[in-house]
Amino acid sequence: MTKSYLLALDQGTTSSRTLLYDAEAHAIIDMAQREFTQYFPADGWVEHDPLEIYDAQFGTLEELLSRHKDKWPYITGIGITNQRETTVVWEKATGMPVYHAIVWQDKRTASICEDLIAAGFSASIKEKTGLIPDSYFSGTKLKWILQHKPELMERASKGELLFGTIDTWLVWRLTKGKVHATDPSNASRTLLFNINTGDWDHELLDMLGVPAQMLPEVKQTTDDFGIFEYQGLGIPIRAVIGDQQAALFGQACFSEGMAKNTYGTGCFMLMQTGSTKVNSEKGLLTTVAWKLNNQLFYALEGSVFVAGAAVQWLRDGLRVIDTAPDSEYFAGKVGEEHGVFVVPAFTGLGAPYWDMYARGAIFGLTRDTGKVHIVRATLESLAYQSKDVLDAMESDSGIKLKSLKVDGGAAANDLLMQFQADMLQTEVERPKIIESTALGAILLAGLHAELWTLNDISQWREIDTTFRPKMEEAKAARLYKGWQKAVKRTLNWAAE
Ligand code: ADP
Repeated sequence: MTKSYLLALDQGTTSSRTLLYDAEAHAIIDMAQREFTQYFPADGWVEHDPLEIYDAQFGTLEELLSRHKDKWPYITGIGITNQRETTVVWEKATGMPVYHAIVWQDKRTASICEDLIAAGFSASIKEKTGLIPDSYFSGTKLKWILQHKPELMERASKGELLFGTIDTWLVWRLTKGKVHATDPSNASRTLLFNINTGDWDHELLDMLGVPAQMLPEVKQTTDDFGIFEYQGLGIPIRAVIGDQQAALFGQACFSEGMAKNTYGTGCFMLMQTGSTKVNSEKGLLTTVAWKLNNQLFYALEGSVFVAGAAVQWLRDGLRVIDTAPDSEYFAGKVGEEHGVFVVPAFTGLGAPYWDMYARGAIFGLTRDTGKVHIVRATLESLAYQSKDVLDAMESDSGIKLKSLKVDGGAAANDLLMQFQADMLQTEVERPKIIESTALGAILLAGLHAELWTLNDISQWREIDTTFRPKMEEAKAARLYKGWQKAVKRTLNWAAE
């Protein structure tokens, strides 16, 4: 391979990062990161300033470019990956946002969602978008922005305003307003995109009162997204993909039935289901993984609300550990059959329980229970919750997983990963490069630049550790039963 470098713009919920990848060495060689302000204007509201997001992103890009002037002639492309669902509306003429970005976590549109449910839209939303009417997705956020000032809807109808998720906003800015586009992995999170036809859906637009003129063009995941021009340099933007789908790609889950789990604040599990759109019976989402060579690939998605956040609770709430990695040391001091279960249902429970009234609890306390038991049981709760989601996926898809690919901060915890393998009775594979999200965007950009093929990527992927099940099946089943019993007792707690 000839000398070549790629850039990933990884635009996350708390920071914007740019990473530089050496295609010959197959390695990320440098990274710059900037945080930006989180706005909480009311209870349950979360906003970002789109201009600040762009500045943070552009700042890190500029920082890397200035550090690596010698590589400028060899930079082949940019791949963008982003926090999903976060919604921006701006003026076409000036590029000025008409409101802050409403972040995916924001709950202000819950009542709009209730109205949609009451009006009987749930079934058609599920059939067309693979989603549920929830404030998480972009559509109701967009409706809220257009309705918050009387003139905005009219201006949007006249074509004066543009809508985008964060990828679209960045592409538009980076190309100085020349390209207004998104990809299907991002579009599939808006409630406006029909994942069967692969296009915006007029009935969905009518349902939310969104003028079609303001929507971006939906390109493929690898496509020509315009050129970023900088001091005589012209770098093509070659790929755009939402962060969780990027991690699925970065983990080389290229064939049907391959899955990854990201252990961050929460857990995000995605299983690629190929060209088959699997409809979930267990409350999972159906989403677009990516579109390559004019073919849509789908995924099943399930998330755990509180995962690494439970470890933060041990650290900052209970103060029984000083750092998150310390959890491994303390958990290692107790055996597996300690009998304690922590259910971290701090904000209710997601798939497959879907109970917003569940609350956290600790079960099985005896006179011998100490800090180490609680720490261990908390770590184990990440693995139990992930098993809950994976079991739902296997049941929906009819696919039995061969190995689970893992990444994210808490995937560094060997004890947790071993316990995960034991619980699933399946291999758990942790790759050498755990920056799966950025790597996914880079690999897609390189695919578009024809630097490599999917086959090449699968072959280079290097595994750091494979955790194989060591616990006997009957014991794993017994422990999991204990977990299910504990979960049952937390359900509906806050409603009674
Ligand atoms: P996010 O992208 O959601 O901010 P990260 O992937 O950076 O999350 O992971 C950070 C989370 O992982 C934190 O919630 C932290 O408590 C947890 N974490 C980090 N290291 C460990 C570890 N060694 N053991 C257990 N949990 C960890």
